[in-house]
Amino acid sequence: MSSNKSPRWSKRTLSAQAMGHTDPVTNAVVSPIHVATTYLRDPDNQYSTGYVYGRPDNATVREAEGVIAMWEEADAALVFSSGMSAATAVFLALAPGDHVVAPTVMYWALRNWLLTDAKHWGLVIDFVDTSDVDAVRNAVQPNRTKLVWLETPSNPLWSISDIAAIAKIAHAAGAKVAVDSTVATPVFTRPLTLGADIVMHAATKSLNGHSDVIAGALATAKQDALWARIVANRRNLGAILGPFEAFLLIRGMRTLDLRVRAAAANAADLAQRFSNHAHVSAVLYPGLKTHPGHDIAARQMQGGFGGMLSIRVRGGEASAVATAAGVGLWKRATSLGGVESLIEHRASIEGAGSPCPPDLLRLSAGIEDVEDLFADLDQALRRAHG
Ligand SMILES: *Cc1c(COP(=O)(O)O)cnc(C)c1O
Repeated sequence: MSSNKSPRWSKRTLSAQAMGHTDPVTNAVVSPIHVATTYLRDPDNQYSTGYVYGRPDNATVREAEGVIAMWEEADAALVFSSGMSAATAVFLALAPGDHVVAPTVMYWALRNWLLTDAKHWGLVIDFVDTSDVDAVRNAVQPNRTKLVWLETPSNPLWSISDIAAIAKIAHAAGAKVAVDSTVATPVFTRPLTLGADIVMHAATKSLNGHSDVIAGALATAKQDALWARIVANRRNLGAILGPFEAFLLIRGMRTLDLRVRAAAANAADLAQRFSNHAHVSAVLYPGLKTHPGHDIAARQMQGGFGGMLSIRVRGGEASAVATAAGVGLWKRATSLGGVESLIEHRASIEGAGSPCPPDLLRLSAGIEDVEDLFADLDQALRRAHG
């Protein structure tokens, strides 16, 4: 947990230097990794450093949290062992009987957890199209709804939810708003500045950016009672990130700004080119004027629309699967936000009940040369269409 009150330098600068942390013992420009699980007690029985044991807290983890809190303009941040453990820590901080509004289009594994396990906790969850502000207004119940969960842009259609408008509705009803901002990244959207209470990241994705760490993060506008329960959840459920992974995450975030801008530029370029492709029936990307959420995205995302897009392949599911089979440079794999570009046929992962059309391929743009990315996918589309 860490707070950031006086950002004199830009976010890109502070992130590149991991908030300027150095090692006081050696003057090394990179902080050491703190691996200890336990800490010396002072002779007067106190813990003057604030560190007691490794499950509640760790100095390397705190360093990562400081960078995330800075990016999100948050009062505090917490890093978790995965995106799912970060997200579930929020829902498990609610009380049995609490009403939750969640999106119909959202990260599939979290939606599945809400549909199955969350009910054992007594949560009552309504799934609505959160890209429709009126639908959210109708779903929120004053004094009963405790949380509105948003994901924007949302997997895998990249629907856009209006964070500021929904925060007003939720707050008027006494509910909090949490936003899964994994795809937007803090480079392009800062939900807390738009009125959200909590922002969540699968740090596995763009924050780390190198497809070599599973991690999650939460950042809060205020260290209130809900946040205190979330802190307790991480401690009691043992969901803290390990120090080695926290170190890799810090290293990844040093280049966050460069990476996500490069990936978003590639995604925008590919979205344009595939919009005019003979074998593509539609491109879903919030940066395109044809996208239904474009106007809201243009307002709430600054500097770019992210690195994620989807294409719908003419010829249906078989052509989409054949296209994915025909790439060489793109990596056929799940996940997103890494430096390498990934392609995935989502419907076969998500299964029954998914809002994902069967002809859809999800693309995570990396930072490679966009000419190479286009050429490889273009030849795969042509081959799939014989
Ligand atoms: C990957 C992802 C998650 C889950 O993160 P894990 O680190 O895999 O647990 C949650 N939300 C979004 C949008 C994701 O892409």
